[in-house]
Amino acid sequence: MMDTSLDAIIQMNGTGDIIGWSSRAQHIFGWTSNDALGQELAKLILPVQFRDSHRQALKRFLVTGEGASLGNIIEIEALHQDGHNIPIELTSSVITLTDGVEFNSIIRDISQRKKAEAKLILANKELAFQNQEKDKRAAELALAAIVFSHTREGIIITNASADIIKVNDTFTEVTGYSRQEAVGQNIHFFQSDKESPEFYTLMWQAVNTKGYWIGTIWNRRKNGEMYPENLTLSAVTNTASEISHYVALYSDITQLNKSHQSQLERMAHFDNLTNLPNRTLLADRLNQAILKSSQYDKLLAVTFLNLDGFKAINDIHGHHVGDDLLIAISLRMKKAIREGDTLSRIGGDEFVLVLTDLAKSDDCNQVLERLLLAASDPVTIGDLVLNVSASIGVTFYPKDGADSGILMRNADQAMYVAKQSGKNCYHLFDSADYDVVNRQQESLANIRAALTKREFVLYYQPKVNMSTGAMVGVEALIRWQHPVRGLVPPLDFLPIIENHTISLDIGEWVIDTALSQISQWQSIGVKFPISVNISAHQLQQTNFVERLATLLAAHPDVSPHLLELEVLETSALNDINYIIATMNACISLGVKFSLDDFGTGYSSLTYLRRLPASVIKIDQTFIRDMLTDADDLAIVLAVVSLAKAFRIEVIAEGVETVEHGTALLELGCELAQGYGIARPMPASEVLTWLDTWKPNSAWLS
Ligand code: C2E
Ligand code: MG
Ligand code: MG
Repeated sequence: MMDTSLDAIIQMNGTGDIIGWSSRAQHIFGWTSNDALGQELAKLILPVQFRDSHRQALKRFLVTGEGASLGNIIEIEALHQDGHNIPIELTSSVITLTDGVEFNSIIRDISQRKKAEAKLILANKELAFQNQEKDKRAAELALAAIVFSHTREGIIITNASADIIKVNDTFTEVTGYSRQEAVGQNIHFFQSDKESPEFYTLMWQAVNTKGYWIGTIWNRRKNGEMYPENLTLSAVTNTASEISHYVALYSDITQLNKSHQSQLERMAHFDNLTNLPNRTLLADRLNQAILKSSQYDKLLAVTFLNLDGFKAINDIHGHHVGDDLLIAISLRMKKAIREGDTLSRIGGDEFVLVLTDLAKSDDCNQVLERLLLAASDPVTIGDLVLNVSASIGVTFYPKDGADSGILMRNADQAMYVAKQSGKNCYHLFDSADYDVVNRQQESLANIRAALTKREFVLYYQPKVNMSTGAMVGVEALIRWQHPVRGLVPPLDFLPIIENHTISLDIGEWVIDTALSQISQWQSIGVKFPISVNISAHQLQQTNFVERLATLLAAHPDVSPHLLELEVLETSALNDINYIIATMNACISLGVKFSLDDFGTGYSSLTYLRRLPASVIKIDQTFIRDMLTDADDLAIVLAVVSLAKAFRIEVIAEGVETVEHGTALLELGCELAQGYGIARPMPASEVLTWLDTWKPNSAWLS
């Protein structure tokens, strides 16, 4: 039986030595019966780590008669003569003899079975894995296909080093880069220089810690154009929680911007009310006309026209009537001039006409007469019949002046003379008009004296966050406390000193006084920013930064962060690169900038994009009419959303009613200033106001 069994049979005595060894045992373990007989079984066929437990089990059996393994089929690893392990199945039984015990073990080599089993398990696993992978991949592919083809978002997938491994069609459409050009590049390859290094550092920090970043980013197309995008950048991690990929989802907001841009560009060149060219476009046209006149040796007339009696109509009947009157008269005047001539509106009731192609100065007389009629014919608005007239000043190129600046000033002065001589007439400039200049010199001297006599004061108008009710700062507004005339508003005297050195002295006085005020408020424990208005003329002084630094140094207790400069007349900023450098130098001193009266003049997109301002103030003319005028509402919305896209704060000025505030909040503009919140007030009243002020409950979020 021992020699014919397909299983090996081994016999062992009570001390564990081999006493029987079948030929099959030799086949399985490699040892001959000569080798095996007399050897300890454990030592011969058990791997080292099992030997002791076998010996102990044997001892225990001899003492207690219990053997857990006896009679059971056990699968273990045994040792072949040549040292390799073989899986075996083992069944042991005990034979009790008169003088002790013997053991019989039946052993089957299960290597083949184990191999087959292992193969099967592997195959199953492989199959399961394959199926799973297949399902997963199919799902992924389906999803990816949908995402990649149906999305209007640009998609980039990168590896863990942010090198691009995949982009979709939208990406190539938007950026202009082909797939081949993009793949393999670092994700930053199409970044613009508009974002600072810190910006990117913070972005990646967020992605690598939080797992994602969402925000607006400026990139650069292949053609060099910069454009803003909303970006969601997320990190993809593998099972070991290591980042394996980054996925960037871009939505191009240029489209959105484009409509706003054309809107703003229109605003930049045309007067919103009358649709006539504004001061900017006029400057352009005038310069071109001058060039052409000098080429063809023709005369050119620059004509300044100011309405007589307009202010009274505005005051008595309100802005809306005033606006309608301006529209009606400008339409008539347009009809009174020739096709190629430019009629522009440069301010409230001020118009400038450029008449070209004149052989002699008399040639324009007819046009001037027609203009006077256009203005003086009664205008009917609703039930009202309104009468105004025009005072016109005229000057000629090249006779009276060689450049646009001089011509404009001449025409302005001639207009002034026309007003003086009884209105509703025109006056041709002549050098005697310099008397008028002398008169102006006189008031200039008065203003200079007022500064020495300390007759100027700053009023402060609060700026608030309508949804939290917090006051975020105040704007300093100059007034002239005139001994005879009383409190004179800034627009009554600042225009007179415009571009004169005295305006610089007053500008410095304003900054200095505001800093003293901050310091005074600080000394009683209150702290908020003050913004002061800075004329373009002042900002463009070569020593502006130096002067500002000196003023700040004179108030060492005041943190420069509390000072904000509101840049006025951005349209008068000439060398934008120079201004950017100046602003940056001021910013490094700690002060911040806002762009005042945004939306008027050509404080347009160009400026918003390039000037390092942190706040823009939407001009009050847009706010005033936003509730009734869809165009103005659209402009406010455009400015608010652009500001958001550019990550610039936005504040509305001229908030006169609760409804204005509510509408602004709906548009996403929380900061506001205006009579509906507080009028400008002396410094002494600000804290009392702050104590008692409560925002309208409709505003609080
Ligand atoms: P701004 O900087 O745009 O100031 C806002 C003007 O709007 C102020 O007129 C303010 O009193 C007025 N305002 C505020 N809320 C409302 C409102 O709800 N409705 C209306 N209708 N008006 C409101 P203000 O004080 O007469 O100043 C006029 C302009 O004079 C200022 O416009 C600014 O351009 C200039 N200005 C004022 N102070 C200074 C100064 O210290 N330096 C310079 N360079 N310019 C100044
Ligand atoms: Mg201002
Ligand atoms: Mg303003």
